[in-house]
Amino acid sequence: MKDVIHLLPDHVANQIAAGEVVQRPASVIKELLENSIDAQASNIQVYIKEAGKILIRIVDNGVGMSLTDARLSFERHATSKIKSAEDLFSLQTKGFRGEALASIAAIAHVELKTRREEDEVGTCIRIEGSEIISQDACVASSGTSISVKNLFYNIPARRNFLKSDTVETRHIIDEFQRVSLAHPHIAFSLVHNSSELFQLPDTNYRQRITNILGGKTNEKLVPVNENTEIVKISGFVGKPEYAKRTRGEQFFFVNDRFIKSPYLNHAVTAAFEGLLKDKSYPSYFLYLKVDPKSIDINIHPTKTEIKFDDEHALYAILRSAIKHSLGQFNVAPVLDFERDPTLDTPYDYEKRHASAPQVEVDRNFNPFKNEHRGSFRNDYKKESVGWESLYTGLKSESSGIDPDVRQIEFESEEVTGNLFGAYKTEEAQNTTFQLNKKFIITTLKNGMLVIDQHRAHTRILYEELLKSITVSAAVSQQLLFPLILQFNQQEIELLKGIKDSLEQTGFIFSEIKSDSVEITGIPTLILESEVEMLLEQLLSDFENEVPENNFSQTDLLAKSLAKSMAVKSGNLLNSTEQQHIVNGLFACKEASITPFNKPVFITLPVEELEKKFM
Ligand code: ADP
Ligand code: MG
Repeated sequence: MKDVIHLLPDHVANQIAAGEVVQRPASVIKELLENSIDAQASNIQVYIKEAGKILIRIVDNGVGMSLTDARLSFERHATSKIKSAEDLFSLQTKGFRGEALASIAAIAHVELKTRREEDEVGTCIRIEGSEIISQDACVASSGTSISVKNLFYNIPARRNFLKSDTVETRHIIDEFQRVSLAHPHIAFSLVHNSSELFQLPDTNYRQRITNILGGKTNEKLVPVNENTEIVKISGFVGKPEYAKRTRGEQFFFVNDRFIKSPYLNHAVTAAFEGLLKDKSYPSYFLYLKVDPKSIDINIHPTKTEIKFDDEHALYAILRSAIKHSLGQFNVAPVLDFERDPTLDTPYDYEKRHASAPQVEVDRNFNPFKNEHRGSFRNDYKKESVGWESLYTGLKSESSGIDPDVRQIEFESEEVTGNLFGAYKTEEAQNTTFQLNKKFIITTLKNGMLVIDQHRAHTRILYEELLKSITVSAAVSQQLLFPLILQFNQQEIELLKGIKDSLEQTGFIFSEIKSDSVEITGIPTLILESEVEMLLEQLLSDFENEVPENNFSQTDLLAKSLAKSMAVKSGNLLNSTEQQHIVNGLFACKEASITPFNKPVFITLPVEELEKKFM
């Protein structure tokens, strides 16, 4: 038999390897930024077109390359950063595999311009799909500029796999932020389709964080510092009262490289114990320096996980360093440190801390007990009329009235008789009661109905919101004074994308700036004090689940708002409120499941009850 093994041609091997390094435009940006940093640049500019799909250009003022180096830089395993395997244990650079440029050149049109300060002329090289198209001496400023055009032009499957521009831009912003947060002494800028997203001057850590996250970030930061044999920690944590509903602002850097570590994240969370509201996440920007020997550098370049030699010690040090900082800045009791009288927690603070769990803002809110909720009440009146007609409707149904009449009633949308055909209550009034501040119980003709109050209300609000977004805009309540809320750049971008739909639900945005929004009107169903929480939750939902089209955007918006606005379990409801929910629920198009596909109620038929008594 003939031998069957042969070597893959270089360009094929390169394309395959490229798949591991370059998943999307953001990966190219990360690799190129890291190269510029390794080249000691003090100024790095990034330009992208159409989320990097058309063009990514990175210009640095680093050391540049000689003609030979420029040519070699595109060869696989060509690197200036290590010479032998030993060097791996004292690695000070970000790159060392010599793979990035070779990979990028295999799947895009690349143009490199570079000049060392000492050289008179620079070098310009064009490569397409690993093939050198041209190589010339050229005029160039000192440093390096690399343009990557038409990413994945020769791998249509990969190109088609890319997400919408919004999504890809978000990935790019993520990478850009991670790298620039790690290097505040380098100036960075990011320009997308000629609009400037970031312009970050050379500065210190605190100011860089503030420049990136915007607004009042500076006031929210508490410094953390700790020097031990095995790790040096510096950076900041956010004050607990500014904890977010999203994990967005959590950053670990180890030796100036962004990493993810659920284990260390746990250490931070543990330091905040007792200081955070439920389901809120502290912000942190923590910079760890460890001996390169003590971490496993053999992780894949595109991965952000890391392996430490002494994880347990690191955990303990990190946790107590943060506790100490929170204590020192009087935001948490100092526990496990030598007592310094000037750092002592004031007595009355300790007391406040003990009662903290009861001051749960969310839980106390009851949408029915507020003057502002006029429209909810009106709805109630409206629906309670509906309820009566529904009830008579059912009677007529059973007495065999003309089906056309029923039809008319169903179409009024206030009432739908068909569900109640199945779930007919014996008495309209006074037959509901609340169990465990969570369930509404009501009787059926032939059994019992147990309704989850939060889920039912979510369903009701979801359908109302969908209607106001798509059919007729809801009314707003005007605010006496405009409400100004701070958001980071990314959140502002998101907000702009859903502004029109949000306005249909009753929000009025009078101004959207680069780091804040001014709101002059809000939906009648919510309180001014809830707006910030609600929008934060909304943006976080949009960050986590990116809608690909208008329909799913509307749906996600309605879902997210409904979830935040609905009564929570734990809210005490009076009987009017309970009936309002029962009424509203069965006027819904789809009463039995929440928009998240969870059951809203269960029924207990009399037969089953009877079985239990046998
Ligand atoms: P690595 O970074 O792992 O060494 P790369 O493929 O990213 O591999 O880059 C190959 C080599 O090209 C680098 O080792 C470096 O010598 C050179 N190089 C890449 N980008 C730049 C740049 N912006 N400025 C100067 N030299 C660069
Ligand atoms: Mg590199």
